[in-house]
Amino acid sequence: MNTKELVAKGLELPLMEAFYTIQGEGRFTGYPAYFIRLGGCDVGCVWCDVKESWDSGKWPVLAIEKIVEDALAFPGRLVVITGGEPLMYDLGPLTALLKSKGFTTNIETSGAHPFSGDFDWVCFSPKKFKKPHPSIYQQADELKVVVFHQSDFAFAEEHAELVNSNCEQRLQPEWSKAEKFIPVIIDFAKNRPKWKISLQTHKFMDIP
Ligand code: SF4
Repeated sequence: MNTKELVAKGLELPLMEAFYTIQGEGRFTGYPAYFIRLGGCDVGCVWCDVKESWDSGKWPVLAIEKIVEDALAFPGRLVVITGGEPLMYDLGPLTALLKSKGFTTNIETSGAHPFSGDFDWVCFSPKKFKKPHPSIYQQADELKVVVFHQSDFAFAEEHAELVNSNCEQRLQPEWSKAEKFIPVIIDFAKNRPKWKISLQTHKFMDIP
């Protein structure tokens, strides 16, 4: 098989970067975690802070065995697969291999592509710029909506209607708008207590 075929089967994947850090946001805030950031995204968020991830062709394509071997070099056994948009790829083979080595698998996704993979925690962060694929709504363990504009509150409520009933709901101020929106988010959550607040604590800690 050539590289294109191997990527299509999820046996090789474009890797932008991988690093061991502390998960800064969402349900697993504060947990040591190994991040696998796959290259490639077609969602196009205007405020995206990893725009360099968008072009998958810029990043080396690695065998999933190599990706997992590198993760095993660190003591933590929580992996977060992110991007880019990781569901552009079939994540079945990578997550099966990670789980066979004892990792807990989390994903951060906009849900813009069909769901794949075996995940212990699915953080679904829908974006206005590309409609989510319907397969994400039953899979989501956490709905995390980034607040960049006042209209994002209505967008958040729309998606809360669509996710499964066990899905945790969080609002997270976009970093550059945090000062403006934190007071609004606090009021919103106090009045609608199904919503909780997520902050990008890794940015406060100045870690990746
Ligand atoms: S989905 Fe994520 S990686 Fe893609 S443009 Fe939006 S914020 Fe950036």
